[in-house]
Amino acid sequence: MIPFSPPRIDDKIIAEVVDTLKSGWITTGPKTKLFEKKLTGYCGCKATVAVSSATAGLELVLRWFGIKEGDEVIVPAYTYCATANVVIHCGAKPIMVDVNQDDFCISIEAIEKAITPRTKAIIPVDIAGLPCDYDRINQLVCLNKIKALFKANTPEQEMLGRILVLSDAAHSVGAWYKNKRTGVLTDVSVFSFHAVKNLTTAEGGAIALNLPEPFDNQALYQYFCTYMLHGQSKDALAKMQKGAWRYDVIDAGYKANMTDILASIGLVELERYDSDTLIKRKHIFDVYQKAFASCKWAELPHFEDENRTSSYHVYLLRIKNINETQRDEIIQRIFDNDVSVNVHFQPLPLLSAYKNRGYKMSDYPIAFDNYQREISLPVYYDLTDEMLQQIIQAVKKSVEEVLS
Ligand SMILES: *Cc1c(COP(=O)(O)O)cnc(C)c1O
Repeated sequence: MIPFSPPRIDDKIIAEVVDTLKSGWITTGPKTKLFEKKLTGYCGCKATVAVSSATAGLELVLRWFGIKEGDEVIVPAYTYCATANVVIHCGAKPIMVDVNQDDFCISIEAIEKAITPRTKAIIPVDIAGLPCDYDRINQLVCLNKIKALFKANTPEQEMLGRILVLSDAAHSVGAWYKNKRTGVLTDVSVFSFHAVKNLTTAEGGAIALNLPEPFDNQALYQYFCTYMLHGQSKDALAKMQKGAWRYDVIDAGYKANMTDILASIGLVELERYDSDTLIKRKHIFDVYQKAFASCKWAELPHFEDENRTSSYHVYLLRIKNINETQRDEIIQRIFDNDVSVNVHFQPLPLLSAYKNRGYKMSDYPIAFDNYQREISLPVYYDLTDEMLQQIIQAVKKSVEEVLS
């Protein structure tokens, strides 16, 4: 059976983890701080805070911005549940909008229609690793008529004076938009380093801070470091210094720090990300693209254009003119040929938690159509060319059997 997305665990990763274990410092410490610095350098953002997951990072940012009951946050209907759940955790309402047919990204026309005086933030998602059209989103929130609607309830909202653009960049570390990497495309971006993501730390995430003047991103970095450790004025490493045992708790914070064990995996992954990982992932995408280009039934994914380059996170193949039942049948046959595939994603209105909150799938026809015809193919470092051919054959055979 060809698996869908196993992590790349090799001797380099193991050696770095063992080095951390033997160092005597396993929680947040020097390796986490180094990982943050390297990420900041890589993205070109103003500061990066390593956290325990992208979900925790997104929620910390929403809470910092004062999102609460009565507020609305615009999210795409086509995403992983984390994007909406963090809004619900804060007591606010996720306002789901439809996505584009071609690239699966949030529809900017739909965002514009969904903005109300309660809108406090937008969370665009770089689906499969392709950045959204951020110039248009950033211009939209800066329009005078949109700013005039914005009602600031906290000093942070007052300082920004407009809707916050918080990018869910869980898929898109290393992707490009107009010669800039993700992390600097919006006010704040959050990466995921979950086990199946492009760059993994087993579990983890990072908040890339890029807020405009007069925000002090360095001060905010300090704020988030404190806020994700119970509001404790010193972290465990600082308390270890001679005689420095006393600390204060400034506010009732959260617990969402990254550990040095996990950061050590991230350090190895980041070091070889551009020169090795992304090259391999692009190769896999190119092989799929070439193999399916001649199939009349294939709608090929969009992963590079004049403004954007994907991080090649998920290969989103669509089959033309099929329904959900046929798609499921194709997937079953692919599995019967010993190849694991997946669907990214079930739009949120299909899932009980959101159905029960009144969201209706029929309000998001493009998200549903993209979903009902979509099959995600394996993409990972250890996939060989022979395995790729086996996957391609299994997909072609299964689609052609179901369509015949
Ligand atoms: C994986 C994922 C997340 C959550 O990441 P975690 O690090 O597991 O919290 C958020 N958004 C999207 C789109 C994802 O795919």
